[in-house]
Formats: sequence, C-alpha cells, structure tokens
Amino acid sequence: MEVICRPVGPVQANCYIVLNDDSHALVIDPGDEGKMIADLLKGIQAKVDGVVLTHAHFDHIGGVDELIAEFGVPVYVNAAEFDFLSTPEKNSSAVFAGVPHMTLKAKPVELKEGTNKIGTFDVTAYYAPGHSAGSTILEIGDNLFTGDVLFASSIGRVDLPTGSAKQMKDSLNFIKSLTKDYTVYPGHGPSTTLNYEKTHNPYLLYDNLY
Ligand SMILES: [Zn+2]
Repeated sequence: MEVICRPVGPVQANCYIVLNDDSHALVIDPGDEGKMIADLLKGIQAKVDGVVLTHAHFDHIGGVDELIAEFGVPVYVNAAEFDFLSTPEKNSSAVFAGVPHMTLKAKPVELKEGTNKIGTFDVTAYYAPGHSAGSTILEIGDNLFTGDVLFASSIGRVDLPTGSAKQMKDSLNFIKSLTKDYTVYPGHGPSTTLNYEKTHNPYLLYDNLY
C-alpha cells in the first residue's frame, strides 16, 4: 500500500491518495484542486474506488464534485455531516472572511462506524467528534488518517460550528487507547506516528491544555 500526499488549496489541507497493490485508489479529503488530483490519478492509471472524508469542512471537500464527475464514484462521510456539503455555515466556508461560500452538489453515502467495504478497500471508521460533530478517524491497513482531530504535536481547533472541547477530550482519550504504532496522516502538516505522538504531543500527554 502506498500513500501519496498533496497539500491543496489556500489553507493547504492534505489530500491523500491511498493506492493498493492492484492500482486501486481511494481519495481522502480532496479539499481543493480537484482537477490536479484527477490528473494525478489518471497519470498513474489508478482505478478510483471512492472518495472518503475525515470531515466536511470546506478545506477538505472543495474538490469532491470534480472528482465525482470525473470518476463516477461515491463520496463517503459520517452521516452527522451530510448537510455540511450543501451548507456554508456548517462547512465553515461562511465563517472566514475571503472564503467563497461552498455549496456542493454531491449526495454523500454514509461512512459507518466500524469497517466499511469501499471498492477493494477496507476502511475502519472511528467517530471522533470535537473538531466537528462528524469528525472521523480512518484506519486503512497500518495507516491512520486523523483529519483535523490529531496533528503532529498538536490538535485541531474546537471553536468552529459543531466543535466541542469536551468531545475532543473524549476523542483524544480514544486515540490514546489505540495500541498499534500506526503511521499517522493528519489533515494538515507532516505525517507522524502514533507512538511518537503519545510520547511527545502535549495534548495527549496532558489533560488540562484546552
Ligand atoms: Zn476542519
């Protein structure tokens, strides 16, 4: 399995392409630059099985409609965020000055808690609210895609619409309970490992920082 990372858009959200040994691909969080991502996928002759979202903030969904139009695949997201795709206040594009209000056409498919069979991939979803109501951590093989819940040495903000500091605390406690040393691919910034974060990330080490 191979993971390709492309930071996209004005806030450089990480779009990930997960490739398996049969050249099938999943696209995680195509936040912007949908055409660039589509061209990349076509360039490596990937067979795209689907688009999966860690959550539906504007900077993680802006390229969804282009990819769906190009490849005819579904987009999976936690049902708690179905309406984010078409609601600028919820996807937070209405929250920031200078960000165009975002309204997608895509009709999402539910990313269920537990294992989801998506094409040739098994995607295990762990609901982890706090950054947003439907924030979800994705486990694919030994990789953990943490969206805006966990970053390298930091965590996501909890002050956007549907955010919750209390839920974030519970979600971080859940992350701490995971025992495998996953490679961690966050929604922004560099990749890391779960063991490194458990021993260095102040938000996992201390309970009283937020
Ligand atoms: Zn976010």
